[in-house]
Amino acid sequence: MARTSECRICSGLVTEFIDLGRQPLADAFRLPQSPEPEFFYRLAVGTCADCQMAQLMEEVPRERMFHEDYPYLSSGSTVMRAHFEGIATRLLETEMSSDDPFVVEIGSNDGVLLKTVAAAGVRHLGVEPSGGVADLAAAEGVSVRKDFFEESVAREILAEHGHADVIFSANTFSHIPYVDSVLRGIKALLGPDGVFVFEDPYFGDIVERTSFDQIYDEHFFFFTARSVARMAELSGMELVDVEHLPTHGGEIRYTLAHAGAREASEAVKLLMVEEERRELTSPATLARFVENVERVRTDLLAELRRIKERGERVVGYGATAKSATVLNFCGIGPDLVEFICDSTPAKQGRLTPGTHIPVRGPEEYRSAYPDYALLLAWNHAEEIMAKETEFQKAGGRWIRYVPEVSVS
Ligand code: SAM
Repeated sequence: MARTSECRICSGLVTEFIDLGRQPLADAFRLPQSPEPEFFYRLAVGTCADCQMAQLMEEVPRERMFHEDYPYLSSGSTVMRAHFEGIATRLLETEMSSDDPFVVEIGSNDGVLLKTVAAAGVRHLGVEPSGGVADLAAAEGVSVRKDFFEESVAREILAEHGHADVIFSANTFSHIPYVDSVLRGIKALLGPDGVFVFEDPYFGDIVERTSFDQIYDEHFFFFTARSVARMAELSGMELVDVEHLPTHGGEIRYTLAHAGAREASEAVKLLMVEEERRELTSPATLARFVENVERVRTDLLAELRRIKERGERVVGYGATAKSATVLNFCGIGPDLVEFICDSTPAKQGRLTPGTHIPVRGPEEYRSAYPDYALLLAWNHAEEIMAKETEFQKAGGRWIRYVPEVSVS
C-alpha cells in the first residue's frame, strides 16, 4: 500500500511516489571527533491528488536546519551575486511607485539581494533566522530581523513599518512547511498593489533532468505553476507572472498579487498548458522519474567502482547540500571519493553528513589534481568550468550525474 499524508496546502490526500531512504540533514557537516549522534529522517516525496503540490512526506523541525551555524552563503557564487543584483535593480525600477517604498525579504541570508536595495536608500527589512548569516548581512549595512517569517512576525513588521511594496524570497519559500501561516502573513503585510515575488526550483526541471538531489530536508515543496496558482487562490492571492530561470539547475520566479489587483500575464497561461501537456504529476510521469533515478544510482556506482579498480583517484567538487542526497542514496563514502573540495571555510575540516567524506579547501585539490572530479555542484557548472581549466589541461575528467551519468 502506498504511503499517504495530508497536504500542507489544501488538506488533500498526498500519495508518496519516491523514497530516497534514511538521510541526514543535508547541511550538517560534522567535526571528525564530534560525539553527537547524527540526526536521520526518511526522505520521501508525494503529490497531492487535489492541488498537485509535490511535498516531503516527513517534516524536519526547522531549528535543526536553520540556526547560528547554518553554513550556506548566498554570496559564495559570482553568478548568484550578479543574479540578485539584477533582480533587485529591476524591482527598484518597476515596483517602487509609492512615496516611501518598503521591501521585505524572507530568507535574506548574507544580504546578497538587500545590499543593492540598501545602497539605493530604500527602506527594507530582511527576515532571517540563521544568526551567523544574518550578522554578515548586518555588517553590509542591511537591516535584518533574526526570526523565522510567519504570520505573527509579519503582523509585527506591519505594525512597525507599514505595508510592503515588495516581498521577495529566493530559495526559501519552498523550505517552509508551515506555509499557511506564512501566506496569511504575506497577505496582511503586502500593500494593496504590492507583489510577492519568489524563486524556487521547478518541479518540471527536476523531472526532466532527473535532478533528484534537489530533494533534501530543506526543500519541502517542489512547485509547478499549477500548484502555485491553486495555493495562491486558497490564500486570497493570484499568480500573475512566471519566469523560467537558469539558476540552481532550473527555477521559476513566481509573482503573486492580491486577487484581482493585477492582470495575469500570458506566460502563466502558457506554462500551465505546457504542464498539462507534459502530464507533470501523472502516475506514469512520476514512475518514469523514479526509474531514471534508479538508473543514475546504478550507473554512478558502477563508474566509481571501475575507476577505483583501476587504482585512479576521484575527488568530489562542491560539498553542496544537494550532494547529501546523492551520496547517501547511492551509498558513496570515502572508499570511492577521497575528499570533497569546497571553498566554504565553515565546511572545511569537517565530514559530509551521513557518508563522512572529508571536506577540504580547493588548494588541496589544485596541489595534486585527481584523475576524476565528481561534479556535485552541477548547478554552478559554467562558473566552475571557467575557473578550473587547469584541471582538464592536466588530463583530469569530470563525472556528471545530471541528467545522466557521463564522463568528459
Ligand atoms: N535567499 C538566499 C538565496 O537564495 O541564496 C538564501 C537561500 S538559503 C538556501 C535559505 C535561507 O532561508 C536560509 O538562510 C534560512 O536561514 C532561511 N529561512 C529558513 N526558514 C525561514 C523562514 N521561515 N523565514 C525566513 N527565512 C528562513
